[in-house]
Amino acid sequence: MTDKKALTIEYVTGILKKKKLIGEAGEKEILIKGDVQRARLKKTQESFYSTKRLHSIAETVSPAEVIASLNLPLLTDAKKTLTEDVITEAIAEEVGLPYRKIDPLKLNLDIVTSHIPRPFAQRYLVVPIEEKGGIITLAVADPFNLEAVENLKSTRKMKLSLVLSSKSDILKIVREFYGFRYSVGAAEKEFSSSSELGNLEQYVRLKGAVELDATDQHIVNAVEYLLHYAYDQKASDIHIEPKRDRSLVRLRIDGVLHYIHTVPKAVHPSIISRVKMLSRMDIAEKRKPQDGRIKTVFRDKEIELRVSTLPTAFGEKVVIRIFDPEVLFQDLSGLGFFPGELELFNSFIKKTYGIVLVTGPTGSGKTTTLYSAMKSISSPEVNIVTIEDPIEMVVEEFNQVGVQPQIGVDFANSLRTILRQDPDIIMVGEIRDKETADNAVQAALTGHLVFSTLHTNDAPSSVTRLMDLGVPGFLINSTVVGIIAQRLLRKICSHCRKMRTLRPEEVENLKLKEKEYKVYYGEGCIECRGTGYKGRTGAFEILDFSDKIKAIVSRTSDSTLILKTARAEGMATLRESAIKKMLMGITTYEEVISIT
Ligand SMILES: [Zn+2]
Repeated sequence: MTDKKALTIEYVTGILKKKKLIGEAGEKEILIKGDVQRARLKKTQESFYSTKRLHSIAETVSPAEVIASLNLPLLTDAKKTLTEDVITEAIAEEVGLPYRKIDPLKLNLDIVTSHIPRPFAQRYLVVPIEEKGGIITLAVADPFNLEAVENLKSTRKMKLSLVLSSKSDILKIVREFYGFRYSVGAAEKEFSSSSELGNLEQYVRLKGAVELDATDQHIVNAVEYLLHYAYDQKASDIHIEPKRDRSLVRLRIDGVLHYIHTVPKAVHPSIISRVKMLSRMDIAEKRKPQDGRIKTVFRDKEIELRVSTLPTAFGEKVVIRIFDPEVLFQDLSGLGFFPGELELFNSFIKKTYGIVLVTGPTGSGKTTTLYSAMKSISSPEVNIVTIEDPIEMVVEEFNQVGVQPQIGVDFANSLRTILRQDPDIIMVGEIRDKETADNAVQAALTGHLVFSTLHTNDAPSSVTRLMDLGVPGFLINSTVVGIIAQRLLRKICSHCRKMRTLRPEEVENLKLKEKEYKVYYGEGCIECRGTGYKGRTGAFEILDFSDKIKAIVSRTSDSTLILKTARAEGMATLRESAIKKMLMGITTYEEVISIT
């Protein structure tokens, strides 16, 4: 290069202006606020990294990070903002390098970590992401600082093909991959060197009780990296599963499991011990299943992790469920109700007494609906008490009781005790026996608002279920305010959404009236890890206990008759709600079929 270019705010601003991503106003704002913003970012990054003991990670704040933090609208589409990805892509185009958004779940751990040592990757922000025919694709963050690339080419004789990626993407990989990999590798080494026998497995068998300490710094780090990684990927569960000769780490994201790491068998027990220690379980007890929880802070947000262990043929399996308050407590308008449904639901939960039931299978979002509802009506003037099995997430505003069947604390008797505690609103985790149903009805009759769940497929059959539990029709009528049946539908990824026409047999399947329907699907892209989906939304069926419904309930438990009347009064069934969401382009035909 003859004139030495450098990635400065001015240079990047020039590119953005040239590509018409920003106008005069945007340019001005960047140049005025840039320096202050940089100083602010530097400060927050320092505090973040110092807690992670990673002082050496690229200390400079990049121009793309500075500009992205201003959240400027795009000149071409004011609804979108100038993100680090958009900026990086523009820079890549300008300097003639391919742009690459890195998907951590698609990377091969060995390729990422075996070619370049961690300190090198950290210092120069370069990460190998692919290897094909002896050529390594290297993601770099700064197209002008190629000292590292020259170094790799000359000293390590590597054949490199460069792509430009955002600094955040590269940092994420360096942190999580090298972090986890390095920690697990170091732990394995430490473990094996402490043994005189070469064969790890034999060692484990001979001295089963002796294990690498769960407080070993490498193990501590590995677990911390794993938790952060899962949280960053918006995973709902982490599975650590022992197999015959290794152990697998998988994450559940939007309801689907993704394989992410392999852990050497020798390290597995200490990782499990560390997780058990964090969740205050009995580390020595390995033959019985255990439950525990971890309260922690990620990125200034309090997160709750519920941990359960299960002894399997190859060792203890751990599942860590991540409760993100942003998922569990949503604004009611964010749950997926249509406007009329939201109004109806709001009218239910604003009653001063009665029973509101939410029904659906496990994982259908019932807890999110109930927690969000209670949060929306919580205030210093009301006493909210919950009885749960187990407590999903500890919330300060609620008074929560966990049932403990082994010492005789169950839904029914907790409910009785709680009524002496002057509650206004009571949530009962689930009504599954006659006693609980009776106590819930009594609570509602004596002026309390009761929320609970039932295990039924739709709203009308919940009435039948209550009657089966021995609650007579007249008591159902005088207590139940409304019943909500719900499911979760995966939302189509907005980055790769495509249109198509429903095939005749699909129209037939859904029993639709017209001949042709336009629907949408996700083609699969980097944003959605090739799944075509991103995030989930609820589909609801809301049964309002109107006079007509009550008239039927008072004389029969026939759910078909209830359904017919409710539909005549305007209730949409779960399937109808799902189809509506499909026709609106929110979800796919396949999702509609899978939930109904
Ligand atoms: Zn996509």
